Amino acid sequence: MTAAATLHRLEEAGVEIVVQGDQLRLRGQKPADDLLAEARTRKVEIIQLLAERDARDTAAERAAIQEEPPAPQPAPEPRRLIDGLLSAGLQRPPSWPDPAARPAPGAWCGCCGRFDPRQGGRWWRDLRNEWDGGAPGWCCATCHPPDHLAPDQYETVRS
Ligand SMILES: [Zn+2]
Repeated sequence: MTAAATLHRLEEAGVEIVVQGDQLRLRGQKPADDLLAEARTRKVEIIQLLAERDARDTAAERAAIQEEPPAPQPAPEPRRLIDGLLSAGLQRPPSWPDPAARPAPGAWCGCCGRFDPRQGGRWWRDLRNEWDGGAPGWCCATCHPPDHLAPDQYETVRS
């Protein structure tokens, strides 16, 4: 009988075979005496067969793991989300009437600055009194340039 056939008969007989170093431990059903004698004779070959089977199982397991679909991609990094929220919060209309609401650093015009909010903006405010024709509040210098005013009649802010 070959070692493979002996191993097959042992397993069919319900014998659990465990390799411990260079020893074969048989558990479970006690094999017939002739099979036990054959197992002792073929011990080294049976250990070799079990080692080869173990290596095949490990390789198959490894291949199965590699065939698994890739892990889902992580969500966009929080920094990008925070930058987006900050940018949205700094959007301003092309003009607004409150002179006290100065454009904050990074403020950008929702009209002309919408393609690149990171550019910020340039804003101006009429310094004349309202009875002299001055208008309160701030304007985007690109959308509403202060061409009608002398340089000393308005202030500008770069954001
Ligand atoms: Zn603008």
